[in-house]
Amino acid sequence: MSTLPTPPRPQPAHRRIDPFEPTGAGGASSAGGAVQDAAELYRVLVDSVRDYAIFALDPDGYILSWNAGAKRFKGYESDEAIGKHFSIFYPPEKVAERFPEHELEVASRVGHFEDEGWRVRKDGSRFWANVVITALRGEGGELIGFAKVTRDLTERRRAELALQESEQRFRLLVQGVRDYAIFMLDASGHVATWNDGAERIKGYTADEIIGKHMRTFYPPEDNAADKTTHELEVAAREGSFEEEGWRMRKDGSRFWANVLITALRDERGRLIGFAKVTRDLTERNAAQARALEDARRLASEEAAREHAEERARELRELAARLSEQALQLELRSAEAESANKAKGAFLAAMSHELRTPLNAIGGYAELLQMGITGPVSSAQVEQLERIRRAQQHLLRVISEILNFSRVEAGQADYVISRVPMHATIESVAQMIAPQATRKEITLVHTFTGPELVARADEAKVQQVLLNLMSNALKFTAPGGRVSVWTERDGANVATHVCDTGIGIPADKLEAIFEPFVQVGRSLTSDHEGTGLGLSISRDLARGMGGNLVVSSHPGDGSTFTLTLPAG
Ligand code: ADP
Repeated sequence: MSTLPTPPRPQPAHRRIDPFEPTGAGGASSAGGAVQDAAELYRVLVDSVRDYAIFALDPDGYILSWNAGAKRFKGYESDEAIGKHFSIFYPPEKVAERFPEHELEVASRVGHFEDEGWRVRKDGSRFWANVVITALRGEGGELIGFAKVTRDLTERRRAELALQESEQRFRLLVQGVRDYAIFMLDASGHVATWNDGAERIKGYTADEIIGKHMRTFYPPEDNAADKTTHELEVAAREGSFEEEGWRMRKDGSRFWANVLITALRDERGRLIGFAKVTRDLTERNAAQARALEDARRLASEEAAREHAEERARELRELAARLSEQALQLELRSAEAESANKAKGAFLAAMSHELRTPLNAIGGYAELLQMGITGPVSSAQVEQLERIRRAQQHLLRVISEILNFSRVEAGQADYVISRVPMHATIESVAQMIAPQATRKEITLVHTFTGPELVARADEAKVQQVLLNLMSNALKFTAPGGRVSVWTERDGANVATHVCDTGIGIPADKLEAIFEPFVQVGRSLTSDHEGTGLGLSISRDLARGMGGNLVVSSHPGDGSTFTLTLPAG
């Protein structure tokens, strides 16, 4: 139907009055050709209009004409519609209340009637229609019928309803949002609407707050700085303003809020107000703080655990190292012990082996000296004497070594008895007296008190004292003095051997009791000796339940003290 249809001529079914024919009734052509043409043009025009149902009613409401639009909207063909009463287009309830008659009555009285409402199609479906009924009057003013123009507004109506519905939904949504305060401000910042969220967050009911200025929500310091004016200015200028800051509740308490103010403008761009969305971030901040705190706690627990594991690992490593060292030490002591034993065995064997030929050297030298096997010159006697002295010295060294190795190996046998100390010192003093005299050293051993008796091995006490007194002479220059005395010291008897000799440096006071240690000994030193005497002496003293110690001032002399259990 893209070209103009040939309009069907309405077939009068009832009374044939066509109000669209300017000549009035019957389609007469008495007005001439031009008029006839104009009438035809009208008919074509009306008939072909598709967006409006345009039809004529007689004064009682019966349909006289029908156009393409009417057919399209209502679904009736011309011959079905023409002659029917126009109430067929009304829903039953409207018919029942005689609404169609009411429309005609109003239209005939005031000239026209306009209405919007539901109408019914041929198939029974409804559409929303805009209806204008215009009364048509003849030249004498008599009612000749009605023109009815109906427009199908179903689409528009649907759109309007949809809009209304979505607005309603939006209002309900905004109203019901509880986590956000969403409200409108007028252009000057006074509260215009209020939602549940606003009431919940700020504590005011709609009645209390609508009409109040937004300053109500700001802390005094912000109001002093006229912050709200600034915010509205920015929102108006930029379109929106957003910030986080402190806001006040009705009860005066503060909350940390995220605030978004959006400028609202009408279609001509005039500012009509602001939408304000406020969110209480207290909970979010608290949740963040909790999350942060949790994260921190986890991290520190983790760190502590790692630290503990690290410490445990270190301790395990330390323990492993220590047990390794302990093992090494055990091995070393065992090695030292067996080395010591080997040394003892070696020394014993060696001294024994040396002693026999040394004795032979001494014996034969003596024989030669005596001249039994032939004459010996005095020079030869002198040389033989030197051989004897060297032999004697070597023999002494060897017996000391043997002595030491026995004592070291714990093989010394002690014959314990009551040993009168004065008498023992006296006998040793006699042994070294010639030596003291030779060296011009005064030997003092005077006893004033009663005899002091020790429980000891007398021969070994003599050996110790001989060693101490020989040393005293050896390390004291001519003109010096060696004194020996004894005294009771608690449960012990202490014997002191004191000299005015060279003394012993403080750092050597202990070392001299070690075997083979000789202070200041060098290859060119003229001191004889093995460095074993003090070591043997201390071992013997301790072996008898006593001790041997020294005190000394280098340059002033030394004092050796032998203590033994009192007898
Ligand atoms: P030796 O006398 O055979 O060297 P000792 O064990 O008896 O061995 O003495 C060890 C060292 O102690 C001596 O070499 C000497 O350096 C030092 N010493 C011992 N007695 C004295 C003393 N009375 N005065 C100074 N030094 C001494």
